[in-house]
Amino acid sequence: MSDIENFFGRVRENCPQTEILTDEEDRLIYSHGCYPREYKWMLQGKYPHLAGGVLKPSCAGEISEIMRLANAHGVGIIPYGGGSGIVGGTIPQNGQVIVDTKRLTGFSVNAANLTARGGAGLSGAEFENLLNRRGYTSGHYPQSFQSACLGGMAATRAIGTFSTKYGKMDDMVTALDVVLPTGEILKTHEAPKRSTGPELVQLFLGSEGAYGIITSVEMRIHPIAESRIFKTYTFPTTEDGIGALRAIIHKGLRPAVVRLYDEVEASHKIAQYRFETGFALLILLFEGYEEANELESRIGSEICAAHLGREKSEDAAKDWFATRFSTKKMLDYDAIRGGTSDAIEVAAPWDRITTVWREMRRALEPLCEVVDCHFSHVYHSGASVYVIFHSKTGGDDKAGENRYLDCLKIACETSVRHGGNVSHHHGVGTAKAEFMKLEHGESGVEVMKKIKNALDPNGILNKGVLGL
Ligand SMILES: Cc1cc2nc3c(=O)[nH]c(=O)nc-3n(C[C@H](O)[C@H](O)[C@H](O)COP(=O)(O)OP(=O)(O)OC[C@H]3O[C@@H](n4cnc5c(N)ncnc54)[C@H](O)[C@@H]3O)c2cc1C
Repeated sequence: MSDIENFFGRVRENCPQTEILTDEEDRLIYSHGCYPREYKWMLQGKYPHLAGGVLKPSCAGEISEIMRLANAHGVGIIPYGGGSGIVGGTIPQNGQVIVDTKRLTGFSVNAANLTARGGAGLSGAEFENLLNRRGYTSGHYPQSFQSACLGGMAATRAIGTFSTKYGKMDDMVTALDVVLPTGEILKTHEAPKRSTGPELVQLFLGSEGAYGIITSVEMRIHPIAESRIFKTYTFPTTEDGIGALRAIIHKGLRPAVVRLYDEVEASHKIAQYRFETGFALLILLFEGYEEANELESRIGSEICAAHLGREKSEDAAKDWFATRFSTKKMLDYDAIRGGTSDAIEVAAPWDRITTVWREMRRALEPLCEVVDCHFSHVYHSGASVYVIFHSKTGGDDKAGENRYLDCLKIACETSVRHGGNVSHHHGVGTAKAEFMKLEHGESGVEVMKKIKNALDPNGILNKGVLGL
């Protein structure tokens, strides 16, 4: 018997509730996520990397035992949530075994603390529905909300479209349970604030399955908002719109949704609603108490007007809200031979954001049919720059793949060269692993490697992500 068969045999004995899938069809299903290259491979009928098998444990105790056995048998493991990651973080490059966390579905609410705890395998939508039935919301609605799971979203420091009011996973998570690579179970202590050394929760947020398997996530929750106000503005230039965003946030306003589309991305919507040609477009959504919304939206309008913004019908904002989970345009483009679309999301401080946006657009345009840009997550010191590109078509599958990889490299390098970073919320996975040093330097990556080696001395857990 091979070592992997011995491993599955021991899992069968020691973890009787764990489902073990070894059929080729099941292994194929789990052998890709949503990284555009993987998606293209799937469309081309290629599966260059096949998982050694799939385990579906029923509880953290079984995951702990699986990790102990994986170390004993030298079997690589990849934690798996919804498989919606778009940076190749779940590719079984070395025939690793997938541990699907979706059977971890526990749920409880602590009404006194306004927190809720969910099993790592609950999807964002499942968690939100459970909360909504009790009058609460997480405020976390990524576009992949139906498929992405709590564990995966914590492991990638994900963000939702309502982040400017409710925050990102890095702010929302208050405690975690994690199975370490060698099988020990770590439960972080629940405290509203601590000064007892480095923050362990933050160590695992963004660790992309390299430092441990998250089994349970405690999050901040909120009462469901009593009212919403939608606003739409146009600006003569993107720079005017960026000025308005910065002023809004520095004034202390917290609209739930902030989306500024540059002149190019705005042009489709501008044409649809017959606004001024060549203008940038801003959508704001305020939610919460009625009086607070009215006050904040009035001050927001004054700030926009001071930056040459013109208020328009709320329809554009409402239509965005109604279609906010659709990705049809990108998927349609991916179906074209040689063409690939992706969304590269970086962050930049206010004093460099205009250059980062302009230079990324300039660098990508010669290689792409479409380059759309918007700014949709806003912070005290800067904002995200979200660049959707459709790389040029033509040539065979290999030429298309190489063109896509060129775009990815050019986008990341250009961002860093002008003061931006490598990823704002999609993570690193294997796709952006080579760019980690651009952001963290040799010494930053070295610190992460030392932590990895200390936690996972046999290199069992998700080798290949984060460039570790
Ligand atoms: C159409 C679409 C829209 C998207 N929109 C957004 C968006 O709005 N905001 C956003 O932030 N992202 C978005 N994404 C990206 C993706 O949904 C996120 O990265 C998400 O957080 C991944 O969660 P998942 O459960 O699917 O993780 P997976 O894809 O299963 O895994 C992602 C990574 O996390 C690790 N991992 C998974 N589960 C665990 C666990 N329990 N413990 C430890 N490690 C684990 C994996 O090993 C892998 O490295 C989008 C993706 C798609 C396809």
